[in-house]
Amino acid sequence: MNLEPARHYWLPTPNPGSGALARHAFRGRRWERQSSDTTVCGVEVAMATPADLDWVTAPTCAECNRTLISELNAHT
Ligand SMILES: [Zn+2]
Repeated sequence: MNLEPARHYWLPTPNPGSGALARHAFRGRRWERQSSDTTVCGVEVAMATPADLDWVTAPTCAECNRTLISELNAHT
């Protein structure tokens, strides 16, 4: 049985309501330059190449983080 852990990557994206940047997790190996996708926490967001500063200033989405950690624990 070859159970590979679910892959994900992080990308700073603007919140659709407020426009505030947050670093959300997404399913997949990496961003394939699609213009929008659904975050791990279930929000449809627009995607664009983040500025270097965005990586520094955008807070990590706590909801994405929590979901990924609980999945990790479920696999072990
Ligand atoms: Zn999120």
